[in-house]
Amino acid sequence: MQDSSGTTLRRPLPAARTVGLTKVYGKGEARVVALDDVSVELESGAFTAIMGPSGSGKSTLMHCAAGLDTPTSGEVWIGDIELGHLKDKALTALRRDRVGFIFQAFNLLPTLSAEENILLPLAIAGRTPDGAWFDTVIDTVGLRDRLRHRPSELSGGQQQRVACARALVSRPDVIFADEPTGNLDSRSGAEVLAFLRRSVDEFGQSIVMVTHDPVAASHTDRVLFLADGRIVEEMREPTAERVLEQMAHLDRSAATSQGLRDHDRVAVAQEA
Ligand code: ADP
Repeated sequence: MQDSSGTTLRRPLPAARTVGLTKVYGKGEARVVALDDVSVELESGAFTAIMGPSGSGKSTLMHCAAGLDTPTSGEVWIGDIELGHLKDKALTALRRDRVGFIFQAFNLLPTLSAEENILLPLAIAGRTPDGAWFDTVIDTVGLRDRLRHRPSELSGGQQQRVACARALVSRPDVIFADEPTGNLDSRSGAEVLAFLRRSVDEFGQSIVMVTHDPVAASHTDRVLFLADGRIVEEMREPTAERVLEQMAHLDRSAATSQGLRDHDRVAVAQEA
């Protein structure tokens, strides 16, 4: 790409991307194509949602993109690094240093305080926390007066905010969030989503979130819809209403294609 003066313009590198990503589980009768030739850019400094019917490949896409699972074929890039070329040790280091995770079940260590949980990944990496950045993160998630509490002494929403702070404090290239509001009531969920939104807008964090919830998706910049292991639709500046409509449409298509498959089976059985 060039501008009018002939200077080459560089597009910012995506936070992560896949090229022809395919994941097949099992063999023979049990063979499942969980991802079918998925090429997608997950934009830097943006909040992206991945949605789709159950079994459409959302978790598989997230796990492959985050280097937690290995593709059958195709490429996964985090920034300028292609994961397929990395040995186990380098992949572990890349996940630790450049990727953040937020899980539905919070995944905090029960014997550590909130502060110790937040700083644990840095401690494991032998990195010294940046004090000013730690303060910013703690104030943004509103945990200043809860730092000495253990997870069992915190509400679900507070525990998830600890997990968000833990993901953010190492300033990863990209944070992958797997149904982060799935275990929260709507008020706590809204607080967590507002915090994720702020970390994109104010700190330029890149976030990719798997969710079933159209309201959660409406906090993002872009929604990717999966069906049968492929990206079938994308929506910018989503609203909950438009996401709900699209999901209903995908559910109807999934039901129809399942109906056709059942019909084929019946037809084959009748012929036999
Ligand atoms: P989603 O997150 O959208 O519900 P998944 O990525 O979990 O979908 O699964 C996609 C497809 O791959 C499904 O048909 C699922 O049954 C299959 N699948 C996922 N993980 C495995 C596995 N470890 N072994 C066999 N099949 C799997």
